[in-house]
Amino acid sequence: MYACSPTWEANWISESDLYQLLSSLAGHIVPSPWGKERVSLSHGVHFTGGEPFLNFKLLVSATQMATELGIPSTFVETNCSWCVNDDVTRERLEALRQAGLKGIMISVNPFYVEYIPFERTERCIRISQEVFGPNVMIYQIEFYRQFKRLDLQGKVPFERYLKLVRTLDGGVGVAVEMFLMGRAARALKPYYRSYPAATFFGEPCQPPFLRDWHNHFDNYGNFMPGFCGGISLGSWRELDRLIREGIDVRDYPVLRSLIAEDIRALFYFAREHGYQEVPQGYISKCDLCLDIRLHLVQHGNFAELSPRAFYEQLAREEILQHEDQRNAGGQHPKVGSQQT
Ligand code: SF4
Repeated sequence: MYACSPTWEANWISESDLYQLLSSLAGHIVPSPWGKERVSLSHGVHFTGGEPFLNFKLLVSATQMATELGIPSTFVETNCSWCVNDDVTRERLEALRQAGLKGIMISVNPFYVEYIPFERTERCIRISQEVFGPNVMIYQIEFYRQFKRLDLQGKVPFERYLKLVRTLDGGVGVAVEMFLMGRAARALKPYYRSYPAATFFGEPCQPPFLRDWHNHFDNYGNFMPGFCGGISLGSWRELDRLIREGIDVRDYPVLRSLIAEDIRALFYFAREHGYQEVPQGYISKCDLCLDIRLHLVQHGNFAELSPRAFYEQLAREEILQHEDQRNAGGQHPKVGSQQT
């Protein structure tokens, strides 16, 4: 979603910014339906990245601030790369629990296991359950169960994962929520069926573009709608004003299209700026949206297309991916149909 990568610059949020942000969020946070000591994916506050354990000191500070401010249902998301042995894992999780953190969300899917040995993920789950009890979320649990059935060990390249998964249940596979946006929309294109832009014109954003749950606030000052990497609703430094007065879209044509109109409006706006529909089509509405934004960011100055590094990262990767595909030659099987 956010094109995270080790090749981004390590720009961490400062502690003073973090305190300012958490202070302005504190009064607006809805606890988990099971109570403020419990966690759930789209309630409370979660610390994420990138990988938040890369800066453990900052993560502990963030937790202490949230505890001091009385923010309910706090948890951290992790890719488990740091869980190199039991002692390190337990020590860090215990330090966070003592600082007031309520729980943890552990990422499990084929894109993580490409880079992180599955043993580390299993270690993180096991010790997290000892430290945080029921407040451990495995996202996505379907992939975790699938990996256990496949008896995955170590890292597994994506192509090998696809071969392995076809051996299960007659190759039917497992239906798992998949957001074809951000890097996924670009990198998984060869595996999905594509459609003309107009296919997506009447489709609503799912989940909704503007919503009062599960939004993100980044280290660059952006208030980001939901999971839409590369779009900023404004500066979170002005969060109180944004909540009070709403988002003034007059100076932000991309936001105007997405909020007041629809993707069709964004498509035609981009055409006026030289955008051309790609002949190979789009695998999702977010793929179309991102392709348009990648064009706009190179042909204008749109403050709402932020952070810039998100687009630079994707553009750089695209060049490398095209080179890889050219070298590999062959066709990829299509494994899905139209999705958002
Ligand atoms: S289409 Fe664009 S605005 Fe809508 S959810 Fe996808 S990325 Fe976000």
